[in-house]
Amino acid sequence: MPNFIDVIIPIPLQKLFTYSITVSEADFLKIGMRVAVPFGKSKIYTGIVYKIHNTPPNAYEAKQIHQILDDSPIVNEIQLQLWNWIANYYMCTLGDVMRAALPSAYTLESETIVIKNNKKTIDESKLLDDEFLIYEALHHQSSLKIHDISNILDKKNVLPVIKRLLEKEAISVEEEVYEKYKPKLVRYVKLNTNYASENQLKNLLEDLGRANKQKEVVLTLFSISAKTKKPVKVSDLSNESDASSTIIKTLIDKCILEEYYIQTDRVQYLGDDNEDSKHLNEYQKTALKDIKESFKSQNITLIHGVTSSGKTEIYVKLIEEVLNRKKQVLYLLPEIALTTQLVSRLQDYFGEKVAVFHSKYSSHERVEVWNNVLNNSGRAQIVLGARSSIFLPFHNLGLIIVDEEHEQSFKQFDPAPRYHARDTAIVLASMHKAKTLLGSATPSLESYYNAKQNKYGFVELTHRFNDVLMPDIELVDIKDKLKRKRMKGHFSDRLIDEMNETLKEGHQIILFQNRRGFSPIIECHTCGHSPQCPNCDVSLTYHQYRNQLRCHYCGYNMAMLQDCLACGSQDLDNKGFGTEQIEEEVKVLFPDYKVARMDLDTTRGKYGYEKIITALEQQEIDILVGTQMLTKGLDFRNVKLVGIMNADNMLNFPDFRAHERSFQLMVQVSGRAGRTKERGKVLIQTYNPHHNILQQVSTNNYIDMFNEQMNDRYNYKYPPVFKQIKISLKHKDYNRVETASIWFAKSLRQVFHNNVLGPESPPIARIRNQFHKNILIKIPKQQSLSKTKEAIIKINNSFQSIKDFRSVKVILNVDNF
Ligand code: ADP
Ligand code: ZN
Ligand code: ZN
Repeated sequence: MPNFIDVIIPIPLQKLFTYSITVSEADFLKIGMRVAVPFGKSKIYTGIVYKIHNTPPNAYEAKQIHQILDDSPIVNEIQLQLWNWIANYYMCTLGDVMRAALPSAYTLESETIVIKNNKKTIDESKLLDDEFLIYEALHHQSSLKIHDISNILDKKNVLPVIKRLLEKEAISVEEEVYEKYKPKLVRYVKLNTNYASENQLKNLLEDLGRANKQKEVVLTLFSISAKTKKPVKVSDLSNESDASSTIIKTLIDKCILEEYYIQTDRVQYLGDDNEDSKHLNEYQKTALKDIKESFKSQNITLIHGVTSSGKTEIYVKLIEEVLNRKKQVLYLLPEIALTTQLVSRLQDYFGEKVAVFHSKYSSHERVEVWNNVLNNSGRAQIVLGARSSIFLPFHNLGLIIVDEEHEQSFKQFDPAPRYHARDTAIVLASMHKAKTLLGSATPSLESYYNAKQNKYGFVELTHRFNDVLMPDIELVDIKDKLKRKRMKGHFSDRLIDEMNETLKEGHQIILFQNRRGFSPIIECHTCGHSPQCPNCDVSLTYHQYRNQLRCHYCGYNMAMLQDCLACGSQDLDNKGFGTEQIEEEVKVLFPDYKVARMDLDTTRGKYGYEKIITALEQQEIDILVGTQMLTKGLDFRNVKLVGIMNADNMLNFPDFRAHERSFQLMVQVSGRAGRTKERGKVLIQTYNPHHNILQQVSTNNYIDMFNEQMNDRYNYKYPPVFKQIKISLKHKDYNRVETASIWFAKSLRQVFHNNVLGPESPPIARIRNQFHKNILIKIPKQQSLSKTKEAIIKINNSFQSIKDFRSVKVILNVDNF
């Protein structure tokens, strides 16, 4: 009989911890179940059973588990295999992976719970004031957490009060692990059974004669249930009858209506019957055939299809076939592209088989999707999700689609696991013996390179659907325009002319302003000072809307200054420009048209993004100003003109991928123009109209871009030619992080010689009061990746054993972006 288990707990420990189990627990336990385990002096964690065995740990005595939390595994063996791969490949711990993988509602909290001691009668007059407050509160609530007690007493240290109450035996304390997830209950109403017969009902309506509003509610309830033949939600009743909840409550209090609750899934599909998928055109048919052909010999295939070529409809056909084989499908998209547009398009075809999973969902919603996938429920045959949906408990995947595969947001930057969802998806698919389809109009150099090397299959789609012409792209030289005084603010005369024309024809316009490195910074005209964040090495950026200066790295903010902090001059100027300023200028230039803005500020909240998209779709907006968010897979029929306000700041960004990204961004934004019969127009404003990337964008020449960029990557030993691992060190003391990073780099050089770069201070050397240093290791293809990692881990271990360095935080980022 096994009597030990190895448990993953959601903290970064190098090794798994072993616990002892009883015979009956051993009987019941399975790998992948959750257990509550003690850890350290007093903590309790939720762990996942990783292994069941009978080898006691030799360094410590195994503690017993507290309790088993599941009846059956919530994590399956393929998932554990994937977690292992992620921990190894991305150089992190299984605990890190577990924390990222499980919905937080599944990781339990340990909290002290205080309850009233009913076994003893207390003379309340003998209680001190604060004691009485707590005791009194326990008359109304069966239990209180430490946190609640702090709130009631409005102070932090409440343990003395609790201790006194315990001594007086007024309360008892329970250490209890509880589960955060509670199924959501929906409130329904029905007519009280007293009014079941026709006569009774007639009497009721007569009685209600005067209370008109109440009568209306009763009648509405009738008509809804006659129409839908389903239970009626209180919210629906109140919406349809336009009655306040007080009126409904009155009816309930009068026992005319009766309320009841039904547990429902939070993530619901409300549509009706399914629509048939579309007939593919010849190009799409050929592409579909090619993909299937390619899958005969390849597990991974890249489809390079120009914007608006109809890739989604091809995916739909593939999904249909996989569903027919009774297998699950994962459809991965960047967070930002997960819009109602695509979701409802898929739901029209597949109805409630589609489950959506992304970060704006609450923990409860995620648990429901998790459970549906785990149980292979009909409601989760297709999961449409962002990065983290690769962690769902699939057991029967047939196909993974990674759309917009070039998107950098597929890579998790912080915290660990710093995984790339596209690359991890490929591994996940192979564990399921499933296929992976990567799709993009502007593939990453990595994927295109792999396709050229025949590591992936490759399929092309070069025609837009309906043969809509590719947009006409024009480069506008703003240096020249400035010289000839043809600029109004940030708008060239060409752009203004085209905008006028487009608006006159009743079409819409999108203006794109890159977010990165182009924030509006305040600068003093007299002394040149610009206000800095006190915690980070960056200038504060100006937010017109709040009239604030804010730090984009740590959130520090202050009211906009009236005069210069350094010299007192009031001559402060806005340098650089953001979406807000463009929006202001547009309002002045085109006062008769409706302008809206789409950026991080305006899209907060679960539906923030959808609201703007819907408004644009419904043509409530004439001109939309936005950031990168605009680029992602949106389909707007009436947008004819796209203006790129300034191409240079993207091109000049200090990153080896800056040119590739600029190309991708500009081609994707351009793809939003003219998606129907009329040809779209794109204007790109730039100081450098002869830049190769701009030439390649304007001729939509991906191949040229690829070849030229690959050349650079060869010459400078960058991915995809070399692999790379970035090591970042952080500490609040500059000297310490400098010494530490020099030590680290020197040790690495002894192994990897010239393929180590740095230590280097990044462009922003201090963030949240921590100084940063980066070291880069370039890894030739023929060098073993696992041996390389072993060497790094060894060096890191020696590093950690040096007393002075122990407080320096080391971050390993494999395939960094
Ligand atoms: P992509 O993802 O390649 O940019 P989409 O799949 O969004 O392109 O297709 C562009 C537009 O063409 C969409 O509005 C889509 O509904 C339409 N479309 C694509 N294929 C078909 C088809 N076979 N029949 C009808 N409409 C189609
Ligand atoms: Zn000044
Ligand atoms: Zn800051």
